[in-house]
Amino acid sequence: MHATSTDEIRLKGIGGSPGICIGKAYLVDREGVSVVEKYNVSAENISKEVNRFKNAVANAKKELTTIIADLPEDLKQHAYILETHLLLHKDKMLYGKTIDIIKNQGINAEWALREATSEAKEMFASITDSYLKGRGVDIEHVSDRIMRNLVGAKDVDISGIDRRVILVAHNLSPAETSQIQLEKIMGFVTDRGGRDSHTGIIARTLEIPAVLGLETATVIIKNNDILVVDGAEGLVIINPEDETLIHYEILAEKFKAQKADALRTSGRPAKSLDGKLFRVMGNIELPEEIVAVKDHGGDGIGLFRTEFLYMNRADFPDEQELFDKYREVVELMSPKPVTIRTLDINGDKAIDASRPAEEANPALGLRAIRFCLKNRDIFKTQLRAILRAAAHGNVRLLIPMISSCEEIYETRLILNDAAESLEKDGLEYNREIEFGIMIEVPSAVIMADAMARMVDFFSIGTNDLVQYTLAIDRGNRHVAYLYNPLHPAVIRLIKQLVDVGKKAGIKTYMCGEMAAGITHLPILLGIGISELSMSPQSIPLVKNAIRKISVAESRAFLKDVLAQATTADIIQLLEDTYGGILSETIYAPPAPDLSGEGALNTQGSDSIG
Ligand code: PEP
Ligand code: MG
Repeated sequence: MHATSTDEIRLKGIGGSPGICIGKAYLVDREGVSVVEKYNVSAENISKEVNRFKNAVANAKKELTTIIADLPEDLKQHAYILETHLLLHKDKMLYGKTIDIIKNQGINAEWALREATSEAKEMFASITDSYLKGRGVDIEHVSDRIMRNLVGAKDVDISGIDRRVILVAHNLSPAETSQIQLEKIMGFVTDRGGRDSHTGIIARTLEIPAVLGLETATVIIKNNDILVVDGAEGLVIINPEDETLIHYEILAEKFKAQKADALRTSGRPAKSLDGKLFRVMGNIELPEEIVAVKDHGGDGIGLFRTEFLYMNRADFPDEQELFDKYREVVELMSPKPVTIRTLDINGDKAIDASRPAEEANPALGLRAIRFCLKNRDIFKTQLRAILRAAAHGNVRLLIPMISSCEEIYETRLILNDAAESLEKDGLEYNREIEFGIMIEVPSAVIMADAMARMVDFFSIGTNDLVQYTLAIDRGNRHVAYLYNPLHPAVIRLIKQLVDVGKKAGIKTYMCGEMAAGITHLPILLGIGISELSMSPQSIPLVKNAIRKISVAESRAFLKDVLAQATTADIIQLLEDTYGGILSETIYAPPAPDLSGEGALNTQGSDSIG
């Protein structure tokens, strides 16, 4: 199906990077790798076939090395993505497996590569963690490049585009995305990819509006169709009517002005109308993202996800490697706090070094702290590295997925053990760090009074708290319409937790995606959350919005919110009370649809958090 010139068609995908652009579509075609032939290779030609494959890998690596060397300055911080791809060329799941298939089955390299890729992709697809699921896509990109070299097909050449367009592609790889020239590409739209995909991460760094995961965009959109791309809402409008066009032109101008304004003031503190100070922090996954946190006025790191050093490798990182990375982050951020979260690894995750047996429900399985308490050496190594890094700046320790007091007790024992062993080894360390737990499981809220006696702070991980409270798999797009942090049960839980924390004299922070939603702020400020952490790009707008809210008024407002029985009623109340103030801050993803339309579907993506 193609759009006719008169139709206005709206496609809903995943908001990959906020912002609005209006322009002509440019469809990127990938040349001839969709059809792969299968043929037998005789025994005497097998080693030739293996060499042909090895040559294709070598050429693919050469291409990628050139792309990395030519990376524009503002993308240098993301070179690691492409460097990971370079390593994947020799990954045993892909490289080793392909050679095995050629040798064992006596078939051609293209077919063998396709088989190996499907197996690897299947393995990653079964993982529920959206970040790791996205790594299956990395394998696909690497395999694509090798395949193009095998069959002699051309790479997608984005650098050749000579007018300002909106790119429409089935799937853009990080290598392709990183070649985007900002003066030519206004935005992009893809069939594949999720918010957590590297392509999404790069789009956010470049601050180009992007809508991903549309599934059929390349079928429906034609070259030169006029498109409106709304990257916050995850919306693409094909052939917009005049009225739509005018509406989005105004919105785009407003967004630009707001962003400029927010950025200008992002270095200043986030003080509410009635003078209460809030800390707005950044969530990072890689040390390189510190730059973005600083540039966007972050008051520290509220969540440093530490999984990245454990992925795509056959062994576990040693203490020195972890220490070096943590120290880098801590020193760069000093004297502001860095909250290091210990390993939040899934039951069936892609740590090559230790893949547990199949789990029917990995989200309910041997994940995060459960994994660490079963693998104490790995845990102790990480804790030692964190304690050592703490000697170089302001570190807080954060433990994920706590569901019982026993887990806190056990963790504390291992932490003591780690400190004692550092003492014995005569290494520099700092034991006087704040010890916090993530509140992601309802049982932790129920037991919060007891837990508060064992910890220094709580940090709410709403991505998981919503999942476990409402029984909605955060990675399942079929129930994504039910996933909403404004569910009254979630709001009551958060209120209950903060109240218990206050009584016990400890602070409650929030580092889940809910913290980045401008329209959630009146509720969060009313409840008394003093520190919010989010992706760096959201910081300026959240700071700006806090300045427009009075905490005293939001407390009174909260009483009304808590009396509501449905999400829709809460959204309505928000619109009636704060619609005027917050509509001036239109673009901070993710924000609920305050129009009431699709009100239950504020984060309709298949990869939340
Ligand atoms: C959360 O669950 O809200 C959170 C911040 O952790 P993650 O998204 O890494 O599971
Ligand atoms: Mg979590």
